[in-house]
Amino acid sequence: MTIFAKILRGEIPCHKIYEDDHVLSFLDIMPIARGHTLVIPKREVATLDQLSDEASAAIGRVLPRISRAVLAATGAKAFNVLQNNGELAHQAVHHVHFHIIPKYDDASGLGIGWPAGKLQDGGALAQAIVAKL
Ligand code: 5GP
Repeated sequence: MTIFAKILRGEIPCHKIYEDDHVLSFLDIMPIARGHTLVIPKREVATLDQLSDEASAAIGRVLPRISRAVLAATGAKAFNVLQNNGELAHQAVHHVHFHIIPKYDDASGLGIGWPAGKLQDGGALAQAIVAKL
């Protein structure tokens, strides 16, 4: 069982921000910026691609509202929403979660490496992805 499953069951405390039938949101215990907040589905799946349309929609419905509250409470003017899937992509807790991370300055919050390349075979690649939808 993941640490977030234990939080969902009330076995581990959290600083709760929001809850409905499908979603729980709480403060990250090791924030990389003040106001760093997590939003998780109550459905216990590891990665976003495994999440149902319904559970995903429930999160999508509340992400903007929670983001607005984080901004208003912290005074941050910018923020990142981060969602990691798989250990290679820096996922440590294997229960789907979205990070809302205020960005106050260059030193705090999310730092991003962005090794931009040049799109190759866009047509074939898009076709291959579309065929799997
Ligand atoms: P990941 O790297 O998996 O995307 O991020 C997991 C996040 O969960 C980390 O930012 C970490 O600080 C947070 N986290 C891990 N354990 C706990 C916990 O017990 N309580 C809370 N509130 N956050 C946690």
